[in-house]
Amino acid sequence: MSAGATVLPEKATHQQTRAFNQQLVLRALHDRSPLSRADLARITGLTRTSVGDLVGTLMHDGLVEEVGRGQSSGGKSPILLGVAPHGRHLIGLDLGESRFSGAVVNLRGEILRSVALPLEGRNGDAAVELVCQLVDALRADDPSPFLGIGIGAPGVIDTSTGIVRWSVNLDWADLRLGPLLEERYGMPVVVANDSHAAALAELTFFRRPRPNNLVVVRVGRGVGAGIILNGQLFQGDGHGAGEFGHISVAGAAAPCRCGRDGCLETVTSMRAMVDAAGAVQSSITDEESLVAAFLANVAGIRRIVLDAARGLGIAIGWLIGLLNVRHVLVVGPVAGFGEEWLAEVRRHAGSSALALLARDTQIDYGHVHDDVVALGASALLMEQQLGLGLVR
Ligand SMILES: [Zn+2]
Repeated sequence: MSAGATVLPEKATHQQTRAFNQQLVLRALHDRSPLSRADLARITGLTRTSVGDLVGTLMHDGLVEEVGRGQSSGGKSPILLGVAPHGRHLIGLDLGESRFSGAVVNLRGEILRSVALPLEGRNGDAAVELVCQLVDALRADDPSPFLGIGIGAPGVIDTSTGIVRWSVNLDWADLRLGPLLEERYGMPVVVANDSHAAALAELTFFRRPRPNNLVVVRVGRGVGAGIILNGQLFQGDGHGAGEFGHISVAGAAAPCRCGRDGCLETVTSMRAMVDAAGAVQSSITDEESLVAAFLANVAGIRRIVLDAARGLGIAIGWLIGLLNVRHVLVVGPVAGFGEEWLAEVRRHAGSSALALLARDTQIDYGHVHDDVVALGASALLMEQQLGLGLVR
C-alpha cells in the first residue's frame, strides 16, 4: 500500500485508484467501525461492488475482520466489519532523555508489551546501538506480521526522509536514523519529533470525533507542542513547528540547553522545576519527589510549580491568539500535579489571549502520558502504511 495521499491525482492509474479507495475504506473502518458493506458504500461514495471487492482484499490481507451482525432492515441482517486489531503489530519507540522505551502496539493502539532501556549518558553511535537493542527486545519471539517501526525522538526531525536534523541531547546531527533502521530490519520506519508524535496519538486513538484543529503540549524534561491544523500534522517549513519550549519568556534568565538564556523550558519543564525545587529542599531529586512535595502543599515548592503553570499558561495563550484552536491538551508527567495546576494554566492562558477566543478554548490533560510518544509514532506509521490522511 502506498503512503497516504488524501487527494487522488488527476490522471491516476488503476493501481493508484485502487490504493486510494482501499485507504478510504480502511479509514472509515478505523474511525467509525463497526460498519456494514452498505455503510461503507454510503460513507465512501464507492459502489457496493467496489466496496465488496476492496473488503475482500483487506480481509485476505488480515487487516479487516467481521465483528458481528447489524440490525436487519427487512432482509438478512448485515455483517459488520472492523479493522482487525491484530492484523499487524507495530513497534513504537520513545527516545526519551533518560531512557529509551518502546512498545508493541496493535492496530487499535493497544499496547501489548513494553520494554525500557536506560540511556546512561549514551549518545551518537552508542545511542543508535541502544535503539537497535530495544527493537530486538521488542521483536523477540513475536511471529506476528509487523507493519514497521515508528520512532518519536527529541529534536528537529525531517519526517519525510527519516533524518534527525538535530537532537542536542543525543548528539545527533543529520543522522539517517530512518533509512539506517530500514536497511537493518527490512521493514518501513518513520521518525517524528516526540511532541508531534504525542499530538498524533491523541488525534488517532483518543479523540472522537476527530477535532479539525488540536494542539498537544508535552511538558516533560523539555517543553514542546504538536500542532494539528485542518486535520493534519503541521510540521512547519523546517520541521520545527511547535518548538515553543525555546521561545524567550519575560523575567526568565537561566541558561537553556539550546545555548540561549531565558527560554520557556528554563521555567516550565520538569527538569527546571526539579532543579529549582531541589535548591529549596535537597530531598527533591526527581519528578516523583517534586510531584509529591507539591501535592503535600510544601510552600516553597508550590510557588515554583505554580510559577511554571503560569509560564505555560501565558505561552498557551499566545498559541490560542495565533491559531484560534479550541482544543489544547497538556500531556506528560505534569499531569501528576492534578487539577489545581491545570486550573492555573487555564487562568493564565485565558488572561493572555483575546477573551473571545480564550473563552471557546478548552485546555485539558490528554489521555495518556507515559506511552504517548510510542503510541503516536505507531499512529504515524499506520498513517504512512495504511493511509489515514493525517500527515501531508
Ligand atoms: Zn532554549
